[in-house]
Amino acid sequence: MPKFSNFFWRAIISISLLANTYVFAQTAHEIARNLRVNAKRIEQRILVLSEFGKNPQGGVSRVAFSEADIQGRNYIMSLMREAGLTVRIDAAGNIIGRREGRDPKLPSIIFGSHIDSVPNGGNYDGDVGSIGAIECAQVLHENGIVMRHPLEVVVFANEEGGLVGSRAMIGGLTAEALAVKSHSGKTIREGIRAIGGDPDKLSEAKRHKDDFKAYLELHIEQGGILDAEKINIGVVEGIVGIKWWEVTIEGFANHAGTTPMDKRQDALLAAAQLAIAVNKVVTSVPGRQVGTVGRITAEPGAPNVIPGKVVMSLELRDLSSEKVNSLFQSIQAEANAIAQKTGTRISFSSIPTNSIPALTDERVRKLIAESAKALGLSYKLMPSGAGHDAQEMARITASGMIFVPSVGGISHSPKEFTKPEDMANGANVLLQTILKIDRGELK
Ligand SMILES: [Zn+2]
Repeated sequence: MPKFSNFFWRAIISISLLANTYVFAQTAHEIARNLRVNAKRIEQRILVLSEFGKNPQGGVSRVAFSEADIQGRNYIMSLMREAGLTVRIDAAGNIIGRREGRDPKLPSIIFGSHIDSVPNGGNYDGDVGSIGAIECAQVLHENGIVMRHPLEVVVFANEEGGLVGSRAMIGGLTAEALAVKSHSGKTIREGIRAIGGDPDKLSEAKRHKDDFKAYLELHIEQGGILDAEKINIGVVEGIVGIKWWEVTIEGFANHAGTTPMDKRQDALLAAAQLAIAVNKVVTSVPGRQVGTVGRITAEPGAPNVIPGKVVMSLELRDLSSEKVNSLFQSIQAEANAIAQKTGTRISFSSIPTNSIPALTDERVRKLIAESAKALGLSYKLMPSGAGHDAQEMARITASGMIFVPSVGGISHSPKEFTKPEDMANGANVLLQTILKIDRGELK
């Protein structure tokens, strides 16, 4: 009898303890689900950041490694400290704000963007993702929420000048790249030093697969799809790969007055037909692939001479390399037919661009979509036609990108604008996705 009673009470205590844990877990979960970013604070900080490198005509020229960039970075570091993060600058010049988790053995969840701009850029490209990421860290800090995973908020160095910081983080920044002159007038090597990095110790900035659980980046769309379709959130499927060719068309330069129309080998006429063929081929199959002829020169380039030689560019972009290759084959077939018809020779030479498609992680996409849905926001899957640090990070960890609308699809311009409520929506999706990953929902 006493034995039974002992067992009985222990069972009762265990059940009530379990119930308590359950209630506690539920409550913590509830609290996390109801966390929201401070929309006003994001808007106000975007305005402060826009002062660094401000142009009289609006927007900023905060090119990487410039004085304005350095001042903007100092502001960012002060915000990180306010958000309770431990701040450091890595050897590549990336700013990293870290917050420890409950389990030191777990890899970190890393998220962020960049604050450098193109010359005559806007106030949202990169800035929304950087300020939004710090906001997420600050909300967690203010609510005393300690996560299981460490968090790292990253503001990458010189994104606009070739994804310099993120490339260094995955160990892909070459010695040749360090010698390249940046918009600031400094070489990448000099620039990294100017912002507090050490170009001679780049290997220390290199991180490994095991360091990270996932990478997330909030960014403005920079295109007009979300704005036109009135959709709150873009769940990025990946960053498209870019392929470039130089196309040479050789005809025969001859007198424009004395050569009859049926006796000509007009290289420019062939080039014009080829430009139309590129458009026809690219639009002939479903999908979001794009193809552009953006540059053309004709020789000898005189009004009274039939063009003997044309050099033009061809660019194709898509999420799938196979698709780009198959489009290119069709374009080559069209070119052969045009060459035959016009009596010209058309050749293609591939220009090495360092941009293969980078897909985001399907599981991360799913969590972003679920977060948007739970917040009552509309969303759609979409590719990114522009390059981002996420394409580098995707090579070492499960990565995802959250797009918010760009009004009128305008970017890299002083007219770039994203509404305060859209910035807050994006940051809330980022926050909820981080929480989901921390809870172990990334399976
Ligand atoms: Zn950007």
